[in-house]
Amino acid sequence: MITAPVRDRVAGLTADDLPAYLYDLAALRAHAASVRAALPARVELYYAAKANPEAPVLAALSGIVTGFEVSSGGELAHARAAVPGAPLAFGAPGKTPAEIATALRLGVELFHVESEHELRLLGALAARLAPERTVDVLLRVNLPVAPEALDGVALAMGGRPTPFGIDPADIGGCLRVLDGPDRASLRLRGIHAHLASGLDAAAQLAVAGQIADWAAGLSERHRIPLPEVNVGGGMAVDYADPAARFDWAAFGAGLAGILDRYPGLTLRIEPGRALTAYCGWYATEVLDVKRSHGEDFAVLRGGTHHLRTPAAKQHDQPFAVLPTEHWPHPWPRPGVRDARITLAGQLCTPKDLLARHARVARLRAGDRVVFAMAGAYAWNISHHDFLMHPRPGFHYL
Ligand SMILES: *Cc1c(COP(=O)(O)O)cnc(C)c1O
Repeated sequence: MITAPVRDRVAGLTADDLPAYLYDLAALRAHAASVRAALPARVELYYAAKANPEAPVLAALSGIVTGFEVSSGGELAHARAAVPGAPLAFGAPGKTPAEIATALRLGVELFHVESEHELRLLGALAARLAPERTVDVLLRVNLPVAPEALDGVALAMGGRPTPFGIDPADIGGCLRVLDGPDRASLRLRGIHAHLASGLDAAAQLAVAGQIADWAAGLSERHRIPLPEVNVGGGMAVDYADPAARFDWAAFGAGLAGILDRYPGLTLRIEPGRALTAYCGWYATEVLDVKRSHGEDFAVLRGGTHHLRTPAAKQHDQPFAVLPTEHWPHPWPRPGVRDARITLAGQLCTPKDLLARHARVARLRAGDRVVFAMAGAYAWNISHHDFLMHPRPGFHYL
């Protein structure tokens, strides 16, 4: 669960260096390369930067991924600077005129358009601010996918009422805009759909097939070329089973089958968590161990203000204990043996729990705890300023 470089670095840190985030960039590159190798050549791999936009992470992925999907003006300016040569696709609902203007100024390669109004706004701004350019557009559609495919999925962005994407009934209006006065500014390249998160390979393929079929039908009905289809991200990450991986080989083979049906098509995927979740660790130490009304608790330096993932997703973050033998005090060292223990942080809220009733062989004050799978939706989704504790250190290995 911990790579050797991370284990070595944690061992070399002092207590005051903790908590710390550690990223194994070589492991990230190896994982991303294996994902890339499992995909057919005609599948483009974009990384959804919002999962973890740290500049060294983006830089480590560049050259392996085709490009980066960014979700705000801030992310796109940041990604442009961190990976200057890489193609960017700008998605996200509620793009402001200022964000669109920034995207045009920075020459963003592709826009994922979320509504007819946004399409008109983009067309008007492009005609005014970038008259020499034709802006490439994918229409993000909220498709009614067959419900079986989405069974048991935690977070569904589509196939039901959501603020995301264009309703299939409104696509005709968008196509009329694309054929209107701003025709010279905008070029429709295809369809985008990001419908769910947490799908295994079989479910993800079922959804991808439905998106490609829907795009092909639209292309036929309106006699317009739609050479690109982006089937989104959301490939499953299983926090209960840190060794498990999304079945990229099966997914790649299935995408090859879709491509066989549509010879002129370029398919694109944009996973976030499934690329970076495994490359990050949050390391800290046990400050105290105590018993409360019959249950054991370890209080850790840090907490969910640094690693909000378990609170946000209501799961137990997987971890490993790195024992330390140094105990500087003359009194007995608090600890448990062969116990179930809840790992809590320093915040004054009962929600500050990183793992509940976890089985440990031994855990004592002063031992180190390293949480795995902290490379995506971890530091960047956390409420850092709550209680004003110091920020963690960051180590890119
Ligand atoms: C968040 C997001 C992704 C990535 O989702 P993961 O679950 O991290 O793979 C991809 N596309 C869009 C449009 C998103 O909003």
